[in-house]
Amino acid sequence: MSQSSGKNHVAVLAFPFGCHPWPLLNLASKLASAAPDVRFSFLNTAKSNQKLSATSGAHLPHNLKSYDVVDGVPEGHVLTPGNPLEEVELFLEAAPESFRKGMDMVVAETGQQKITCILNDAFLVFGCDLAADMHVKWVPLYVPAPYDLSAHIYSALLHETYAKACGGGEAHGNGGAVGDLNPIDKTLDAIPGLSVMRFGDLPPEILQEILQGNQSNCSPIFARTLRRISEVLPRANAVVMNSFRELNSTILTDDLKSKFQDILYVGFPTLIVPTPPLPPSHSDATGCLPWLDEQKPTSVAYISFGTVAAVPPHEFAALAEALEASCVPFLWSLRENFKAFLPNGFLERTRKQGKIVPWAPQAYVLSHKAVGVYITHCGYHSVFESIVGEVPMICRPILGDGKMNGRMVEDVWEIGVRVEGGVFTKKGMVKSLELVLGHDDQHRRRMKEKIRDLKELVVKAAGPDGIDKDKAQTVTTKIQNN
Ligand code: UDP
Repeated sequence: MSQSSGKNHVAVLAFPFGCHPWPLLNLASKLASAAPDVRFSFLNTAKSNQKLSATSGAHLPHNLKSYDVVDGVPEGHVLTPGNPLEEVELFLEAAPESFRKGMDMVVAETGQQKITCILNDAFLVFGCDLAADMHVKWVPLYVPAPYDLSAHIYSALLHETYAKACGGGEAHGNGGAVGDLNPIDKTLDAIPGLSVMRFGDLPPEILQEILQGNQSNCSPIFARTLRRISEVLPRANAVVMNSFRELNSTILTDDLKSKFQDILYVGFPTLIVPTPPLPPSHSDATGCLPWLDEQKPTSVAYISFGTVAAVPPHEFAALAEALEASCVPFLWSLRENFKAFLPNGFLERTRKQGKIVPWAPQAYVLSHKAVGVYITHCGYHSVFESIVGEVPMICRPILGDGKMNGRMVEDVWEIGVRVEGGVFTKKGMVKSLELVLGHDDQHRRRMKEKIRDLKELVVKAAGPDGIDKDKAQTVTTKIQNN
C-alpha cells in the first residue's frame, strides 16, 4: 500500500501568473514531506507547470503530483501582444469550472480518493465556495506581503479617508503639514500598522479605484476578484502567510489576526539561503555564475524586474544609458521582447561591460560576492532574495505590492534607495549607482549592516529552507481531518 493512500487528499489550486505558483508548489512540497500519509494533487495550467519544472528543478515528494487544468484560452484564440491581463481574465472566467473538472479527474485517477481539503492561492477567491460545496476544509495561501493584505481588507476605509483628505477634512500624519500636501502623499494612519505607507504606495489596483471613484483600469473580473479577498478570507479554516511574523509590526499582525479564524506565518517557502556547492548546471543555463566569478567583489549591478513587470520603453533606454555612462559591470535579466527598447548599438558597445540573459538563477546571483547592487522592481520575493544575498537595492517599483516593498526597503529597513522621481532617468540612475556602489563608504556600510541584521532575522526564523518547521507542522494539522 502506498504511503499516501491515507484518507486525506489535498487539492492544491494555483494562480498561474507571475511568481505566484512557486511559493504554493514549494509550500505543498514541504507539507507533503512533513505529512507523508497525505496525498497532495497540484493543479495548474500546462504552461505554468512547464515553467515551474523548467525553472525550479525541484524534486517532488512521492505524495505530491502535478496535474494540468485548462487555461480558459479558447482553441485557436491568439492572445493580444502587450496585454497580459487578457490571459488572466480568460483564466479567471474559466477557473472555477476548470478546477472542478480537474479535481474530478484527480479523484478518478487516484481510485476515488476524495478531496478533503482545498489549499489554494488566495487570489482564487472562488476556492471558498468550491470548498463549501464539497464540504471540505479551505486553507488559502496569501502570496504578497502582509501589508498588501491589509490594504485590501481596508480598501473601503481607504476610499473614505482619501475623500476626506481631498475635501480638506481631517489631517493624516506628516507632522501636521496638511495644508498644501497632495493627498497622495498622506500617510495611511487610519489603517493599523500602515502609518509608514502613503496613499501613493498602495497597490495600483486599489489606488486607481480610489482615485477614479471605483472605476478600475484593471480588468473587471480581476478587479472583482481582488475586491472579494477581504470578504472570503474570514471564512477560511486558516490563512497561510508567505511571511514571518517577526518581520512585521505587532500592530499589523495583531490586527490581521483579529480578522481571520486563524493565520499562520510559515516563512518564505521559496527562499533559498545559498551555500556551496553551487546548484546543478541546469539551473544556470545562461552561464551567469561563471561570468560573475570573473568580476571584482561587490562591483556588479544586477537588474531584474521579476516575471511580469516592465517599465515604459524610454525608461529601459534611460537605464541602459546610465549603466553605460557609469561603466558599472552589469548582469541584466531581460526578456527578449524588451531588447528592442535598448539604445542603438548598446549591445555591441557593452559586450565586455555587461551580460544580458533572458533568465538568471536569481537567488544564487544575488548571493554571489561580485554583486554590489540590485536594480529591482521591488517584487516581494526579489527583495528578500536581495536581503539574503546582503545586496542593497535601487528600487523602481512597478506593480502589486512593489511600492509598499520599496517604502519598507528605503524608509523602514534602510537597505536601499528608490530612484529619483520614481522613474528611470539617465541622470537619476547615475546618481543612485554612485550612491550605492560609489565612494560614500559610510552610507554603504550602514546599509550593509542593516541588511545583515535583517538577514539574521530571516535565517533565524526560517532556517536554510526558508520555512518554519513548527509552523509547517501546524499547517499540516490544519489541512487534515482527524
Ligand atoms: N526570477 C529568477 N530569475 C529571473 C527573474 C526572476 O529566478 O531572471 C525569480 C526571482 O528570483 C523571484 C521571482 O522570480 O523569486 C519573482 O518574484 P517577485 O515576487 O520578486 O516578483 P514578481 O515576478 O511576482 O513581480
